[in-house]
Amino acid sequence: MANTALVENIQGYSIHDGPGIRTVVFLKGCPLRCRWCANPENLVDTVQVGFLVNLCQHCGRCAKKCEKGAIIPDPDKRIDREKCDNCGDCVDACFYGALVRYGKEMSVDAVFDKVRRDKIFYENSGGGVTVSGGEPLTHADFVKRLFELCREEGINTCVETCGCVPQSAFEAVLPLTDTFYFDLKLMDAEKHREYTGLDNERILSNARFVAAAGANILFRQPLIPGVNSSEENIKATAEFIRSLGRTDAALQLLPYHRMGTGKYAALDIPYTLESLELMKGEEVDAVCEKYNSLGVECSISR
Ligand code: SF4
Ligand code: SF4
Repeated sequence: MANTALVENIQGYSIHDGPGIRTVVFLKGCPLRCRWCANPENLVDTVQVGFLVNLCQHCGRCAKKCEKGAIIPDPDKRIDREKCDNCGDCVDACFYGALVRYGKEMSVDAVFDKVRRDKIFYENSGGGVTVSGGEPLTHADFVKRLFELCREEGINTCVETCGCVPQSAFEAVLPLTDTFYFDLKLMDAEKHREYTGLDNERILSNARFVAAAGANILFRQPLIPGVNSSEENIKATAEFIRSLGRTDAALQLLPYHRMGTGKYAALDIPYTLESLELMKGEEVDAVCEKYNSLGVECSISR
């Protein structure tokens, strides 16, 4: 059983990632490459170094520290990605926080220790721990062990998942998971592949599996204008959810935003949805109403 995983962040006091006040554990690594992803630092399961141009004071300490000659004197860019091996030496040398390390190897016990510290907030709010990412179930053994420890302490557990993992990963955590937040991004397989890198066959199969197992499940849909906001996709999503025969299975919309774009720049990853217009509040409301009219209880995460 995996006792360690690359953790990108452990964020306390979250109210958007499951019931009540939660501690969210972000694990690195994801099989999908959604073009709107707000956490590009969690896509790959390796440590990465990012450069935050606005914080740089041009002191030159990073260049002196880097033994690989990977620091470049460009005002907007600092790291030659061809030469950089993400060792992190420059991060430790920078006094201004302009270089950041994404990912830290942590043991299950160390993560649980942090989670447990917020227990009083869970008890007063009906909250608990949520694993997110990336795709947390690419570390199913780690999550299973973490949730076993949580169960022993009576801490509520939630998994935020893109669904694109082997069914065995769900089987491993199912008995220990209080709620699944399960993404349904696009119902058309080809379009799914175009915008996320893979088709949706495995995702839909896992959604059926989790729903049939009787698990507590909230479907979520990042609402991306012009990508999955069409009448056709709304109808297909509603039909799929209804086909599961779970009258309690609701859908939550996550309106598109650009809050992650700074991290794309920090990592020198191209952001390909720059020209996309944000949806107006009333347009998001209309999509929500459409889902409700199609028999799927829908809400909006604001
Ligand atoms: S050490 Fe930090 S502040 Fe100094 S040049 Fe490098 S990135 Fe900029
Ligand atoms: S992470 Fe290491 S190799 Fe990359 S720029 Fe910093 S010091 Fe150089």
